[in-house]
Amino acid sequence: MAEVQEVSPEHGHLEWETPLYRTALAQYELALPYADVEEFVAERLRYPERSLVVSVPVRLDSGKWTVFPGYRVQHSTVLGPTKGGVRYDAEVTLGECAALAMWMTWKCALLRLPYGGAKGGVRCNPKEMSLDELRKMTRRFTSELLPIIGPQKDIPAPDMATNEQTMAWMMDTYSMEIGHAVPEIVTGKPISLGGSLFRHEATGAGVVMVIERACRRLGWDLADQRCVVQGFGNVGGIAAAELDSKGASVIAVSDVSGGLHDEGGLDVQSLLRFAEQHGSLADWTEGDRLTNEELLELPCDILVLAAREDQIHADNAHRLQARLIAEGANGPTSLEADAILAERGIPVLPDVLTNAGGVTVSYFEWVQDLGRLFWDRREIRAKLAEQLGDAFDRVWALSEQKDLTLRSAALVAGIREVAGALRSRGIYP
Ligand code: NAD
Repeated sequence: MAEVQEVSPEHGHLEWETPLYRTALAQYELALPYADVEEFVAERLRYPERSLVVSVPVRLDSGKWTVFPGYRVQHSTVLGPTKGGVRYDAEVTLGECAALAMWMTWKCALLRLPYGGAKGGVRCNPKEMSLDELRKMTRRFTSELLPIIGPQKDIPAPDMATNEQTMAWMMDTYSMEIGHAVPEIVTGKPISLGGSLFRHEATGAGVVMVIERACRRLGWDLADQRCVVQGFGNVGGIAAAELDSKGASVIAVSDVSGGLHDEGGLDVQSLLRFAEQHGSLADWTEGDRLTNEELLELPCDILVLAAREDQIHADNAHRLQARLIAEGANGPTSLEADAILAERGIPVLPDVLTNAGGVTVSYFEWVQDLGRLFWDRREIRAKLAEQLGDAFDRVWALSEQKDLTLRSAALVAGIREVAGALRSRGIYP
């Protein structure tokens, strides 16, 4: 069983000290011995380079003023500008953003994208806010980030509870401040503002591209697999639709309101239309209802985690009955659960590889915006499949060569890329 290391909050870690940051750091420490990096490089990469904490005043529709805390953390600028999502969620903290920013660094490096990792968000309850309140909050948050974001500095993208509209507001706020349209400041925007075809589908479709590749290695036919998908938003909804379109049977899905189960296979397209119209699956009446905890433990071939972090932990990892786990969400599996699953021989397709379709097509979007030249959907899908396939093959080979879990192999591959660049650049001054 892989050793679970306790990482003590030494030096400057206290600012980011949260369970998620501890997980990110402990995963890094587990991978480090295989990455062949000097101690100064290893030490530098334990810390995010820059963190910004802001407060975002918003006058609510009721006339009451509320001040929301907001964050942006940039983990590494070694390979280029930083890249990462913005989330609106009641649990966003600086430490959560720091962990997610570190994972973004390894993800971009693994995919050989010229970016470092960032993440940000506002702590709020987006479901309780009107469109106008969200618009005002987004614009003020963007203006607070102005000193540290830019097309060559840090390029935000959508994440939990943010979408094309959020990115349009961010792009407009930045552009009004600069004095001309700057589409390349964000990715995941509407097509009409310079967004890329296939960006909306990229993360969920990429998850299924990685699953397909893994099935081939395992000698399975994807069309024969029974799949369970937790989370039915941008990533989970599209992953479920892609699995369905490839002939796999989607037997259960869930969102924050709970799950639905039908051994005969769910009607994914109808569920997607329902979720789009009603904002959730809460009032769907067909199939058996079950809790998210029960859904995770259903017997199935492939379990796709596409909701949020910390879903598989020491308490439930022993009870999972899936044969393969795919992480569409960031950080859904705890360190202890990773060790339990490794011991049980259940492979985990790790987040930094499996959900990298989003940032890869975000990179394509940024390149298209900078060049003012746009590609067609078929070309983008093919380029994405090629780039994810190449990363998958490198991770799989490294995991076999060094007898590592797929997560450690993915992190080693990412860390090596960043470390090589940092070694050449040196530490300033
Ligand atoms: P989203 O807001 O579109 O969807 C999240 C879904 O998860 C919703 O259906 C929500 O109801 C559900 N959910 C929330 N809490 C839950 C819980 N406790 N149990 C079960 N379901 C729950 O967000 P998204 O963009 O699909 O992001 C989901 C995950 O994927 C996040 O971890 C995010 O960081 C990651 N991710 C997103 C992208 C992207 O391009 N959107 C890219 C890479 C990674």
